[in-house]
Amino acid sequence: MAKVELERMMCISCGNCIDICPDFFEFAGDGLSHLKALKNTEETEEIEVEDPSCCTQAEELCPVSIIHVYD
Ligand code: SF4
Repeated sequence: MAKVELERMMCISCGNCIDICPDFFEFAGDGLSHLKALKNTEETEEIEVEDPSCCTQAEELCPVSIIHVYD
């Protein structure tokens, strides 16, 4: 299992994570990125996934480095 963490309060809404990894990321109503697997938004979001797949690419493409994937 891998852990994906998103410090969403520092998101600058560039859209990179959503473009590269739309199965995991979306914009929430406040315009900040959000992990789709979670029903409600939180300041720091965290999910456990079998396969982080494109989340690693999102981590690399996030200009403010607020996506973290831990294997
Ligand atoms: S890549 Fe980073 S800054 Fe851009 S929308 Fe995603 S979390 Fe926000």
